[in-house]
Amino acid sequence: MNVNHSNITITESACKIADEICLPDTYLPRVVVIGGGFAGLALVEKLKHKEVQVVLIDKNNFHQFQPLFYQVATSALEPDSIVFPFRKQINGYKNVLFRLAEVEEIQPSTNTIITNKGNVHFDYLVLATGTTTNFFGMDSVESHSLGMKDIRDSLNIRHMMLQNLEQAAITCDDKERDALTNFVIVGGGPAGVEMAGALAEFCKYILPKDYPEYPSSIMNIYLIEAVGELLGAMSDKASSKTLKYLKDLKVKVLFNESVSDYDGSLVTTKSGKTILAKNLIWTAGVKGQFPKGIDEKHVVRGNRLKTNFFLMVEGYKNIFAIGDIAALISKDTPKGHPQVAQAAIQQGKWLGNSLLKIIKDKPVKPFEYKDKGSLATVGKRKAVADLGKFKFAGYFAWLLWSIVHLLSISGFRNRLMVGFNWAVSYFTYEKSNRLIIRNFKPKSLVNETEE
Ligand SMILES: Cc1cc2nc3c(=O)[nH]c(=O)nc-3n(C[C@H](O)[C@H](O)[C@H](O)COP(=O)(O)OP(=O)(O)OC[C@H]3O[C@@H](n4cnc5c(N)ncnc54)[C@H](O)[C@@H]3O)c2cc1C
Repeated sequence: MNVNHSNITITESACKIADEICLPDTYLPRVVVIGGGFAGLALVEKLKHKEVQVVLIDKNNFHQFQPLFYQVATSALEPDSIVFPFRKQINGYKNVLFRLAEVEEIQPSTNTIITNKGNVHFDYLVLATGTTTNFFGMDSVESHSLGMKDIRDSLNIRHMMLQNLEQAAITCDDKERDALTNFVIVGGGPAGVEMAGALAEFCKYILPKDYPEYPSSIMNIYLIEAVGELLGAMSDKASSKTLKYLKDLKVKVLFNESVSDYDGSLVTTKSGKTILAKNLIWTAGVKGQFPKGIDEKHVVRGNRLKTNFFLMVEGYKNIFAIGDIAALISKDTPKGHPQVAQAAIQQGKWLGNSLLKIIKDKPVKPFEYKDKGSLATVGKRKAVADLGKFKFAGYFAWLLWSIVHLLSISGFRNRLMVGFNWAVSYFTYEKSNRLIIRNFKPKSLVNETEE
């Protein structure tokens, strides 16, 4: 039996073991990459058409552009304009294969990974599995709130917001209406700040048109931050300007507060403050995610994998980690590199360039991160930029943010769609995707009703 498989003919001999994922036999070294995020995809791009067989495995069949999740969550963009199918990405790459599977375990002693669809043997393994939301063990918060680490989370937030606004128009109970129209965002990093700004713009420009039955003052947006400043990783100037932008948009920023409990309606902070809100969006932390099987002594703060300067996971010669999951601890980077797209892309590219040399036992230079600066936006014409010693805010920072993000999105069609949506919204203040296309239920209710 022959199966024709995107330019590679797979013969029966390739699938001889029942519990193995079907892959073509090859004389080339096999590099298995788990995760097609920024890091994994940058690596695959560098290894295309090279003398290795690359097997990209991801639990989704698409790459996600996480920096714009908040725009899907607030109805500004369609989800399919910021995700991109892996198979389309690797079209024409004859040495690259994609398999849709979730990796559950790594067995370093036999160079095997175990997935929910079967096993795969590797010569070299690259972990690029990124992070997941960290609720810091607060089960009540996790089961009633929404994180923003997956495109499905963004769609859930959009549905939660629109359903609750509709419900607010129905209810005659003032307290219930307050809870339905109050939004709490936890975490004053870029994701929290951008989400708060986008919601505030929704409240300013969309609410009065779509929901004339109540004043825009009915929608309160709270941003809770555990320390005394926003955007802690950026400059003081960026931090204070962001605070001003948010205050101008009537966001209530609570500093030095952290959430200790949430029952789906009442947010309680450590200092005892309470806020009535049925919308809680959690952006306050992430933790590394990776399959079991890696020796725990190589796992460091934030559940990341400690690597050497060649991005090899400590203790292993043929297992590498790149992107958010990797922690290259050194004198200059005692906490590892920042968990941002730039670091992930640079590590993916570096490993792509170096792996062939490592395979052939040739010398390679250690990985070095080049910080290209940081950008964050709060809303239209409101952004902050730290580019080395140049620190600025306002229209040009926002323009730069828009261009950088537009150019970073995978796929020409996606860039076109996002650019078009932004242009329309720039002139009309419109957000075009205010559709409730399925019934959203918080995690706590799904468990109660669907088991
Ligand atoms: C809301 C939000 C906003 C952000 N904004 C910015 C920003 O403005 N600028 C910036 O630089 N950074 C931003 N970031 C951070 C940036 O997105 C991350 O640093 C980057 O995505 C890390 O890339 P990665 O490849 O390491 O992981 P990811 O992009 O998270 O990719 C991990 C991949 O691994 C797959 N995977 C995980 N586990 C398994 C498994 N067991 N089996 C199979 N597949 C698996 C996942 O499906 C995913 O495709 C933001 C992040 C979020 C969540």
